[in-house]
Amino acid sequence: MIDLRSDTVTQPTEEMRKAMMTAVVGDDVYDDDPTIRELESYVADLLDKEAALFVPSGTFGNQLCLMTHTKRGDEVIVGYDSHIMAHEVGASAVIAGVQLRQIESQGGRFNIETLEGYIREEDIHYPDTGLICMEQAHGDGSVMPLEHMKKISDVAKKHNIPVHLDGARLFNAATALGVEVSEVAKYADSVTFCLSKGLCAPIGSMVVGTESFIKRAKKYRKLMGGGLRQAGFLAAAGLIALKEMVPRLKEDHDLAKYLASELDKFSNIDVIKERLDINMVFFKMTGVDEYKFISAMLQKGIKINGIEDGEWRFVTNNDVSKENIDYTIETMKVLI
Ligand SMILES: *Cc1c(COP(=O)(O)O)cnc(C)c1O
Repeated sequence: MIDLRSDTVTQPTEEMRKAMMTAVVGDDVYDDDPTIRELESYVADLLDKEAALFVPSGTFGNQLCLMTHTKRGDEVIVGYDSHIMAHEVGASAVIAGVQLRQIESQGGRFNIETLEGYIREEDIHYPDTGLICMEQAHGDGSVMPLEHMKKISDVAKKHNIPVHLDGARLFNAATALGVEVSEVAKYADSVTFCLSKGLCAPIGSMVVGTESFIKRAKKYRKLMGGGLRQAGFLAAAGLIALKEMVPRLKEDHDLAKYLASELDKFSNIDVIKERLDINMVFFKMTGVDEYKFISAMLQKGIKINGIEDGEWRFVTNNDVSKENIDYTIETMKVLI
């Protein structure tokens, strides 16, 4: 099977499987797991932050950060098309008990004047603005310039509001920008990133921030049911994800660009080239029945997702080769 649905579908590598088999573990709720500790301190160093925390998923990490930064009833400013807004099941209302204020966004970029206007003044009627969230790389496939992150961060600092970065694909963003991840992370007080997307770990995300923030987050992690026991098995894979799998993200990005150029040759396909910064290709396709196409592709051994917001999305990852892409294109020539 060729799976183009996401980069979450990746299989752990042989090296990860071996590392998991031999990992030294302990009860992490008792702070007894040396492999988790190693991962957390490795990640804190890598992002140039004080501390880090292993969490089960990216959604968990984002929602944990929202809860840790805010109090109930606070307002959190998020992009209208952000993952926190659109793809986390309304969790912020349930867990942190905050209200989300959606801001117009283009690949995570906000109009800075609009952003500043959205920050609440002190008034007995108003909620407090408790947090501003950024997303980088953005789920729409684009990466915003660091200067824009700085502008958002400057506004937040001016008003003394913390910034959370949903960096599920932080390493893809840093790869696309050609900078160290710490250069991206520095514009946020807290960061979440996934080990289990393009980096191929089977499970896990990291939350990163100051010592005191992580200490509070750790208690809320327990509240949310995320206090794990022998989690070092997962950390062992996570360490390999970070040490071995980061340099090859560029291959996914290059392959996505190749895929995009091949797709663009179809007369009924319109690739969205402005959002081709990482490993995701978005495109519009006319004259094709969605469900028939998906099942015909599946019959040929290719798994794809359906249309979202009028767009198709194909994602490259460690388990997708150039030959797989060529086969996909040849198959589509027959089918559409
Ligand atoms: C995937 C993703 C998440 C959530 O990660 P899960 O591990 O799937 O919960 C959060 N934000 C963005 C931008 C993502 O792409």
